[in-house]
Amino acid sequence: MNDEEYFYHPLENIEDIDEFYDAVERTHLTKSLSQERPYTYWTIELYDQDNGIRGGGGLGVLAADTRRIAEKMNIPFVLLTPFYPSETRQVLKGELVEDEHIDVDYHKFGYKYIDSVYIKCCNNLCKIDVVEKKFKSTRIIGITEPNFGELYSGTSGSDHRLYQEVSLGFGGYAALKLLGLKPAIMQLNEVATFFGALARLDELASNGMDFYEAVVYTRKHTLYTNHTLVQAAEAEFSIEQFERYVFPNLKSAAVKKWLADKFEHGRIKLSSASIEIAELKSGVSKLHARVANYHDISGNKVKFKAITNGIDIDKWVMPDLLTFYHENNIFNNINELNENYTEHLNSLTADKIRAFKTNGRDVLNKCLKNRPDQNGNILHFSNNDFIFDFKRRFVDYKRPDLVFRDTTRLRNILEPIGAHYVLAGRIHTGDAAMTAKLKHILDLVSQDEYLKTHVHYIADYDESLAFGLSCGSNVAINVPIVGLEACGTSWMKDVANLNLLISTHDGGVADAHMDDYFNVNGSSEEDELDMLYQQMEDTISVWENDFDLEYVMNRQLKAFLPIVSGARMMHDYLDYLFPK
Ligand SMILES: *Cc1c(COP(=O)(O)O)cnc(C)c1O
Repeated sequence: MNDEEYFYHPLENIEDIDEFYDAVERTHLTKSLSQERPYTYWTIELYDQDNGIRGGGGLGVLAADTRRIAEKMNIPFVLLTPFYPSETRQVLKGELVEDEHIDVDYHKFGYKYIDSVYIKCCNNLCKIDVVEKKFKSTRIIGITEPNFGELYSGTSGSDHRLYQEVSLGFGGYAALKLLGLKPAIMQLNEVATFFGALARLDELASNGMDFYEAVVYTRKHTLYTNHTLVQAAEAEFSIEQFERYVFPNLKSAAVKKWLADKFEHGRIKLSSASIEIAELKSGVSKLHARVANYHDISGNKVKFKAITNGIDIDKWVMPDLLTFYHENNIFNNINELNENYTEHLNSLTADKIRAFKTNGRDVLNKCLKNRPDQNGNILHFSNNDFIFDFKRRFVDYKRPDLVFRDTTRLRNILEPIGAHYVLAGRIHTGDAAMTAKLKHILDLVSQDEYLKTHVHYIADYDESLAFGLSCGSNVAINVPIVGLEACGTSWMKDVANLNLLISTHDGGVADAHMDDYFNVNGSSEEDELDMLYQQMEDTISVWENDFDLEYVMNRQLKAFLPIVSGARMMHDYLDYLFPK
């Protein structure tokens, strides 16, 4: 068999090169979106359990929310992602979390097999299956094969990760061609998706377009969305790995040379190449866009446009409260915020807040039915229980352990009102340090008579737990080390579901003012801790007083609803991509 035959499916519809010559400005370049010319969104991680794909955290949740929002706004939108044939679930064994692996079959989730495409790796042709699921104006294109492995399996600079990323990029681009789609825009949700844009550049440059023009064209249609703060922390690949997995997939000698120039001392960071291939670059909150420290190959600091993440309100707001938002014209039917929403929020009285939270507690209890805490107990909270929660990926900078530094003080806050503290968070597979940290927290808790029965760790943080806790608790705690959170979206679910927010001024929270929520700050960690405990006491008294509750909840919603609105985020992207 001839290699070339199997390399790609025939490119019947290569880019409309004439279009490039027609117009120089992007306003003309990118014609309005259509089903054949969709907005394409590339992501190595999608968190969409209803559609069979479980992500690792916020990056994937954002991708799933973005597609659902596009669907509601009737935007032609194609999300390209791997369909991982296996996923992990975490269980607590003693005080240690362990991973369990589960097979996932795309057929069971309504995906249709389209065809197979081929990429070259290590002198072999690898067959990659393209599967598809449609949702009104949007679709998910899944790239998969039986040995594709799991999300984030292996280390970040490993051969297997590169294989997954190359498969998504080259395989995904070939899949678009197969389906007759030309991307009006390629949004790269972090650098693992760089190869999608590279595949486009290579197609143009090897099909008659002048190389420099191909670069300009690709750049004008590519948006690189950064979620990471420090370039230095990014994994690297070696030129030797690229020789096995990447260069064989490129047809244009000029593109090969362009890419080879991005290596320094034989190693490449995909961000260096992503910065060059995307004219449009965005960060995920105002603070993050300002502080993300990235440099291009000339050493100039990269400017990121701030487009703060948002959430899909329909997905994350509890049903009765969602109806209230709609009936009171706070959000319209596609969850765009009404310009007079602050007035309309005045109808949210303390009685209503308490009634919504009563329903939210049922949602939480239902979600906890099959999820015992560290002592093997199934929790069932009554209406009178007061709940603090901390729920997010278990990584050091988010400081899940902060509140446990002084367990006596913590007990003295919780015990007088019989309050509970629910802790949920997934530990990244193989993260020994965080596994040890969780064990340490559980040890501390087990040594205190009160905390032992009122601090609960629920394993395997996922969408349903995120939803249940945001509906059912009273106060959410979010205390990343300032400067390290890009945006965060767990707290958005809390704010939208009427939890009081205690937070450091970081990520998307810092889009608002410090007075809009229960702020934690200080010049040392001890000061921050002291303030965290004070704010916990304050939120308890707010919940005890109707007047305060109404006032504080309204203030929080007025400040944050525009920030958490996913429709706002989508409009921000569209305004940036298609300037008037
Ligand atoms: C919302 C959500 C996240 C986002 O977490 P952040 O730490 O706030 O970015 C992560 N995981 C799950 C399961 C979620 O639902």
